[in-house]
Amino acid sequence: MKLAIFIGSLLALVTILAFSSVNNSPVENHIDDHSSHQQPDPEKKFPYQKTEKEWKEILTSKEYRILRNKGTEVPFFNEYNDLKDEGLYVCAGCGQKLYSSDHKYESGSGWPSFWKPISDSLVVELEDNSYFMTRTEIVCSNCGGHLGHVFDDGPEPTGLRYCMNSAAMNFIPKEDINK
Ligand code: FE
Repeated sequence: MKLAIFIGSLLALVTILAFSSVNNSPVENHIDDHSSHQQPDPEKKFPYQKTEKEWKEILTSKEYRILRNKGTEVPFFNEYNDLKDEGLYVCAGCGQKLYSSDHKYESGSGWPSFWKPISDSLVVELEDNSYFMTRTEIVCSNCGGHLGHVFDDGPEPTGLRYCMNSAAMNFIPKEDINK
């Protein structure tokens, strides 16, 4: 009888240990990390991290002012406002692809404008209440760099205008995309 209780207790202990090890498995923790990377929470850290010192080393002063300090460049007198070449626009901070020339249009605003990003997951929307206005800020989903704002006066099919700062992006011509 004592042997039966001992074996029963042993089995229960083994079962508890087995389940507790499954719940703490590195695989599950890894999946949790991965899901948070796909949908960055603006309250949390973005996946691509640099210290302020490192950002200042890799960005020009203009890029730093816009991407890291939410600056805005002068309308019309910026690099990509009039650009009509085919290619991709990537984040000047981390290199993540953001916009395609296929979705760029002439908005008349003086800043490069797109009616959609390449994919919604590449940018994050944040509420911006600066300058006595309520606007929707757009940041890179990988590094959190400020890119511009989105407005609802764009063309069909989305009706959106992603109004971007040229200095927050780098343009890669179509012929150089796969190099
Ligand atoms: Fe970025």
